[in-house]
This record gives sequence, C-alpha cells and structure tokens, in this order.
Amino acid sequence: MTNASANATGALLEKGVLDAGLEDRAAREELSKLFEKNFMDLAAEADDIRRRLHPNDIVTYIVDRNINYTNVCWVACSFCAFYRTKRQAQRGDGYVLSTEQVLQKIQETVDLGGTGILMQGGLHPDIGMEYTTDLFRAIRKEYPEIQVHALSPAEIWHLVDKSGLSLEDTLKELKKAGLMSIPGGGAEILTDETRGRIAPAKNSTNAWLEVMETWHNLGMKSTATMMFGIDESYEERVEHLLHIRALQAKTGGFTAFIDWTFQPDNTTYFKKYPDFQKATSLDYLKTTAVSRIILDNVANIQASWVTQPMKTASIALHAGCNDMGSIMIEENVVKEAGAEHSTTEEELRGVIERSGFRPAKRTTLYDRVLEPGISAEDI
Ligand code: SF4
Repeated sequence: MTNASANATGALLEKGVLDAGLEDRAAREELSKLFEKNFMDLAAEADDIRRRLHPNDIVTYIVDRNINYTNVCWVACSFCAFYRTKRQAQRGDGYVLSTEQVLQKIQETVDLGGTGILMQGGLHPDIGMEYTTDLFRAIRKEYPEIQVHALSPAEIWHLVDKSGLSLEDTLKELKKAGLMSIPGGGAEILTDETRGRIAPAKNSTNAWLEVMETWHNLGMKSTATMMFGIDESYEERVEHLLHIRALQAKTGGFTAFIDWTFQPDNTTYFKKYPDFQKATSLDYLKTTAVSRIILDNVANIQASWVTQPMKTASIALHAGCNDMGSIMIEENVVKEAGAEHSTTEEELRGVIERSGFRPAKRTTLYDRVLEPGISAEDI
C-alpha cells in the first residue's frame, strides 16, 4: 500500500463521515469512493484493522449444520431459488421437518464434532410459535450443549403475525424455549429501494433492524449479513453498512458480519433479467474490505467460501476477514441457486494455515474455543 493511499483513506475517515448519520448523503457518497480504490490498497487498509482487532493471527471457524426446517414460503423473493409455494408443496415439492428429523440431523452434527446449528426456513403459512418453540425445547432437552442460532428477522415477524404477540414478547418466548442467537439472514440490502425491487413482500429495512435491536436489548447476540451484487449501487451498500454500524454502536449485539454475493441460478430475478452478470470475485473482495473498514466496531468478519471459490476466501483473510465461517455439514439455500462449493474441517484448516494463520475452532457465539492452547480471549 502506498502511504498516499493510506493517508487518503485515513483522511476520509477522520472527516467523520463514518458517524455522520444516515441522512448525510454527502458522507455516503464519500464512503462510496472507497470502492474506486485499488484493491491492494483497500485490502491493506482492511488488514490493518483486522490486525488491530485480532493481533494473534488466528482465524476461527465453526463446525455446525445448516438445518432448513421447511422450504415452503409465501414471500416469493425474486433472488431465492430455495422456496416452494404452498401449491407446489401440495403437489409434493415442499417439506416440513419433524422434530425427530431435526434431532437426527443434530445427532449427526454432534458425531462430526459440531457445536451448533443454524436453523432457518421459509415463512410457511401454517407454521407458528407452537412448532417452533416445541422444536427448540426438544433440542434443548436432548442436546443442551448445542448452540441454537436460528430464525432470521423475516421469520420472527412471521411468528409475530401468527401468534398475535408483540415483537418483544415473541422474542422472549423464543429465548425461553432455547433460542440463543439470531442469524442476520434476510438483510439482503438494507435500503427500501432495493428491498422493494427484489422482495416487495418481505419486511422493511426498519423492521429488520427492529428485530435485531429488540433482541440485543434482551441481552442476546446476533450476526449481521449483506447479500449484494443484485444491481444495487455502491452507495446503497454503504447505507447498509452504516445501518449495521449505527445499531452496533447502540447495542453492541452483533458478533459477526458476513457478506456474500447473490447467486442467480434458478431464481425469478435471473429469469426476468437473463443478461444479469454475477458480481466478480474482485467485487466480493473489495466489498469485504470496505465492510471491514466501515464496520470497525464489529469484531468478526467472515469470509464467504460458500459463494466464492476457496482461493477467493483465502485472499479475503488478507482483506479484513478473521473467520472462515462454518464447514456447513449441510447447506441447501445457495446450492439451489447454483453455488456448489463444499469443504471439510481438514481442508478448511489447511486453507487457513496455508494463508498464514493459526486455525481455531470456535462456537457459534464466539464464547468458547475448542483448540489446545487458545482461549476465547486470544481470538
Ligand atoms: S429468501 Fe426466505 S423469505 Fe424470501 S422466498 Fe426465500 S425462503 Fe422465503
């Protein structure tokens, strides 16, 4: 990185644009200029922040399983290849997992050394609090050591609608039943312009943020995500990141941020725009570096090897990321949209080591490290 370039970004940030507030269009435009920078310079600046936050050159990962309890959903997001409508379900193309099936998947996860599950599903018109809380209680009873990271804000709002409870009471009930952490899924791009364009029936930006804030105020943690590369502007990506930054400053409840690129195969979005071009790996890496710079108040940034080749994820470790996410014993959502990457714990550790870091297996909440000689404080 040239000093001139580093100073340029330093000056940009020192102007206070990061905390100027979301209404400040000029600040957003200034931050959008980060995307115009040379990747090597941007990566070095993001890497400086990563080193400051994680000085021990440890890269964490988790062994867990993605359990999609149903693929039936009424929302019909244009970017989603996973969902089936109720009518498709009636023709035999939909499913809802039983408690026994979910417990069986968790047993397989435990057998492979897994410590958590990421459980998300469609917004099934017939699924409400009873199914969900019964499931969480059964998991807690059978596998008290498993960390349950489940239900994105859209699913939470669905449960609010189905139960008639307030948002806060719904979250309290879920917490009581065993929910430990909420995944940041369904954030896509947190601007109502893009949300209205790609998923008009889904919750608004403020509704996504409200779930996270209410959950954090109960003393609980969540992750934050961004799915990009769906014809949004750089300024919208910046707006998204500033929303996360502002809420984190208020609650401190986000454990990690994960960005990934839209996977278009088999989506109605791609059918509508057949000339659509996927975001490149370079765009992914630059966006990840910008995320590290803007979100310097979120401890962990995960590299997305699920939607990017492993080599790209390895480069991301030098562009701001300090975590390789999950080995994902099972993944269904992006697989339906054409992303077929998979890995093993051994391969993931090898990639981390060859990238110049020490691997450390962690839990979902980043509160425990299952690695001799490394503690949660070291990561
Ligand atoms: S992204 Fe989620 S809410 Fe949207 S259609 Fe797919 S399953 Fe439903």
